[in-house]
Amino acid sequence: MEGCIFCKIANHEIPSRIVYEDDEILAFRDVNPVAPVHILVIPKRHIPGITSLAEEDKDVVGSILLAAGKLAQDEGIAESGFRVVGNQGENAGQSVPHLHFHVLGGRPMHWPPG
Ligand code: AMP
Repeated sequence: MEGCIFCKIANHEIPSRIVYEDDEILAFRDVNPVAPVHILVIPKRHIPGITSLAEEDKDVVGSILLAAGKLAQDEGIAESGFRVVGNQGENAGQSVPHLHFHVLGGRPMHWPPG
């Protein structure tokens, strides 16, 4: 979608530190990490958020979660534990309206989240 920063990253129009890519999804390091490992996993196709998901998006969401688990293993945080976070809407602090899941690890995390 025009003007969407994550679409631009997915199209390689602006640089990012890519850690995984296939036809459907892209994973790259968050520019403002809040944990030692902080990766964003996105669909390449523009989907505004979790509440915009449709039946036809089931596969891409599954691919994102599979990639999140594999990336956690690659990054060495699978055993110590990690978190996959999807912020939706204002109260959750969603700042980019293109579906994305944060993969966070490398330090202990609190529950409930702030
Ligand atoms: P959220 O607040 O859940 O919408 O997450 C958006 C995330 O995107 C934030 O953690 C930002 O730091 C991150 N972000 C924004 N722009 C970029 C960028 N150009 N490259 C990498 N991460 C970004």
